Amino acid sequence: MNVLRAPGTLVDFHCHLDLYPDHAAAVANAEREAVFTLAVTTTPKAWPRNRELSLPTSHIRASLGLHPQLVAERAIEIALWEEYLPQARFVGEVGLDGGARFYRSIALQRNVFERVLRCCEKAGGRILSVHSVRAVTGVLDLIEANLSASQGKVVLHWFTGSRAEARRAVDLGCYFSINIEMLKSERGRDLVAALPQDRLLTETDGPFTCTRGRPAQPVDVKAAIEGLGLARKIPATEVMSIVRANLQTLLDFADTADTE
Ligand code: MN
Repeated sequence: MNVLRAPGTLVDFHCHLDLYPDHAAAVANAEREAVFTLAVTTTPKAWPRNRELSLPTSHIRASLGLHPQLVAERAIEIALWEEYLPQARFVGEVGLDGGARFYRSIALQRNVFERVLRCCEKAGGRILSVHSVRAVTGVLDLIEANLSASQGKVVLHWFTGSRAEARRAVDLGCYFSINIEMLKSERGRDLVAALPQDRLLTETDGPFTCTRGRPAQPVDVKAAIEGLGLARKIPATEVMSIVRANLQTLLDFADTADTE
């Protein structure tokens, strides 16, 4: 039996199921394949539908987000995000984007992300999927100042920072969700190989990555598992056990924390 197909063994910790042409079908596919899938959202307006579709499933969890690339137009939606937070154990996609197209809104992005972190600190027991493109220092500064590891766990999604920044993130208690794009360069593979085993997760960031020329589905996360195994020189089956164990640690944290 191919263990990569065994039920309940794959983890896609960052996937935009609501951005596929058929949202309900994308949820149903991930559920049928038994892939634990964190269904991240980009605006709190997407929360009710994502929650509704994920609640009857065993493997899909909806995540309450306000994407930094949308903050320039949608910063006002932070009020709605805050209103929904009591319903959400998972938060994301949130964070900062310092890339050329979004840098103009960086001050506003900081305000929004700081508010997200402070709300999570107060609420407790939240797990966050965080975007940090060209803004790793800013993201880590805000996390350090506003969210303690006892109140919230941060998963840095598609991390592209330096080795030194990764070490700082590790010291702050962060996890990393690894996708295939991160494993395409030697620099990326070296960085991923150096991360502590107990901070590793996997993701597709579908539909923004591709498998065989089409948008990746959660089940395609097995390519990231295989790539991670090659980069760390361990069998893919061992990567799967590591990632499942790390997911369980996060779920236990969310289950046992004192929350509001
Ligand atoms: Mn994303």
